[in-house]
Order: sequence, then structure tokens, then C-alpha cells
Amino acid sequence: MKITTIEEMNLQDFKTKLEDIFNVKIDKILICILSEEEFSHFRTAEWVVGFAFPRRNAVFVIEEHSSNRSSEEWLKVIKHEIVHVFYENKFHSVMPYWLNEGMACYLSGQQKFRAEISISDLMKYHNSADKDIYNVGYNAVKLMLGGKELGGKEYDKTKKSD
Ligand SMILES: [Zn+2]
Repeated sequence: MKITTIEEMNLQDFKTKLEDIFNVKIDKILICILSEEEFSHFRTAEWVVGFAFPRRNAVFVIEEHSSNRSSEEWLKVIKHEIVHVFYENKFHSVMPYWLNEGMACYLSGQQKFRAEISISDLMKYHNSADKDIYNVGYNAVKLMLGGKELGGKEYDKTKKSD
């Protein structure tokens, strides 16, 4: 396992953006990079490549070359998990899962295909998850924000003064 930091991963700007969005300051977030073998002990589903341990302000991710992702997409996995750290620090809960996963996908730039969202989806994914939760959550968050794709005006708005 390799333990690294926000600074070493060059994610300070992303962390600052999240501190602004969530209005939560987190002193230090550890990024733990696991080998495929190490990661296999924590894997809860075949598609999982990262997880967060928000109470310890730590995220865990499988090493890049075992992730089946480009460097850019692998970095988004780390960002996704960092959003979970902020979410739990803010709300002291991981629920509703769809909002938690939706925020993580949306804010990390993991764009998803369009999906119809129903109230029953939101009920289903309140406290349960499967592979579809990312699509449902992403689109629910996007719709709440007026249907803007990531990188739209709202996302890039930087709060100054006040
Ligand atoms: Zn997630």
C-alpha cells in the first residue's frame, strides 16, 4: 500500500472547491493506493475500484494499472471517494445513497448517460445500492441543478468575499 496526500496528487484545487461547496474544512485527507491483491480483501462488488473511510478522512483506491481505467478516469475515482469524505463530514450520514453517489459522480466529473429518474428509484436507493445507482444519482443531482452538465456555470462559480 502506498499512502499519499492531496498535495502529492495535485488535488488541492479540487479539495478547495469541495470545501467551498460543502462549507466544511478538512485538514488532511489520506489517499491510500492498494495493489490488486490488497484491494481484493475489501472489494464488495466486481465493479468497485475505490472506497472511502470518511471517519478517518481517508480514501482507498486500487492502483492505476489494475483499475482498467485511463489516468484521467482513475483520478476521477479518487475525486469521487474524496467527495464521500466531504459528504459524511457534512451530513454525518451516508444516506440517501443516491445523493451521496450522485454528488460523488457529478463533482468528480464522472459523467453518466441520461436516465429517467422516478420517485421509486430515489426510495430504492435511499439505503441500498447496485450498479445503477451511479446513473440514477448523477442524473438526479444534475436535474436538481437545472440539467447543467458538469463544468457549467454553477460548478465553476467561485465564491469570493462574504
Ligand atoms: Zn461512491
